[in-house]
Amino acid sequence: MNVWSKQWSHQEAKVFQSTGYQYNATVLQTRDLILVVDPGLFPDDIQTIQRYVSEIADGRPLYVAFTHADWDHVMGAKGWHATPHSTPRMIGSIGMAQLTAKQERVEEGRKILRHLFYIDTPPLEFPELDVVVEKDGQTLHVGNTAITFYHAPGHTRESMMIVVDGLWVLGDYLSDIEFPFIFGDYDDYKQTLEKIDRILQHHTMEWAVPGHGSIIQSTQELMQRKEKDLQYLRQLKTIADDQQLMDMIQGYTFLYDNDLARNLHRENHRKVTNF
Ligand SMILES: [Zn+2]
Repeated sequence: MNVWSKQWSHQEAKVFQSTGYQYNATVLQTRDLILVVDPGLFPDDIQTIQRYVSEIADGRPLYVAFTHADWDHVMGAKGWHATPHSTPRMIGSIGMAQLTAKQERVEEGRKILRHLFYIDTPPLEFPELDVVVEKDGQTLHVGNTAITFYHAPGHTRESMMIVVDGLWVLGDYLSDIEFPFIFGDYDDYKQTLEKIDRILQHHTMEWAVPGHGSIIQSTQELMQRKEKDLQYLRQLKTIADDQQLMDMIQGYTFLYDNDLARNLHRENHRKVTNF
């Protein structure tokens, strides 16, 4: 696991990046609270982050938020205690609250860890939400800390982005190692990318953490990644057959040369052609 830190005058963020999927878990501390977003993938990663949080908690309330409900983002829902007797508050979108077959999500994760990585997980639970984000741009105020949530459908229907001052947690968008995975709707995905400009009108961006891959540290890079993904989406629309699709994805090197990636591109293309 890799760990990166950034210090502001009023807050400090740490990103714990798993060796698996280059998955990013974010821990933010302000004077008012501790906020964990997407709380870990492998059991030992989750434990390390939980230990760190209980060490720094110092009586502050703990919030655990989920950008979306894909299995890798909800694996770490259990076992959070800032202090031995405190209860963390779980935050997710209305779309996440309304999902059916919730427990299947974590069961899927448990199976994948077992079969692909030979990792046994402790019992898992899909998070019960204490704070449900219903409105786009909804803000949670705790003392002087303001956490703003933006609906970000497209990758999945229930996805959201979370912004606290200069820190943005993006969920599975703008990764430098993954191409867009359109598990939701194509037009939603495009609109979510376009929305980034509007979010930028309301917040500064100093650190933007994608679900997987390296942290974005400048607006220029944010825009570059957004443009690249928009271009991918536009290109998908022009593709007529599988051969063209296979030619088009040559540039997506990291995940290109395997069946999983090829099939994900094909799924994306199917979303555009409405099969
Ligand atoms: Zn993910």
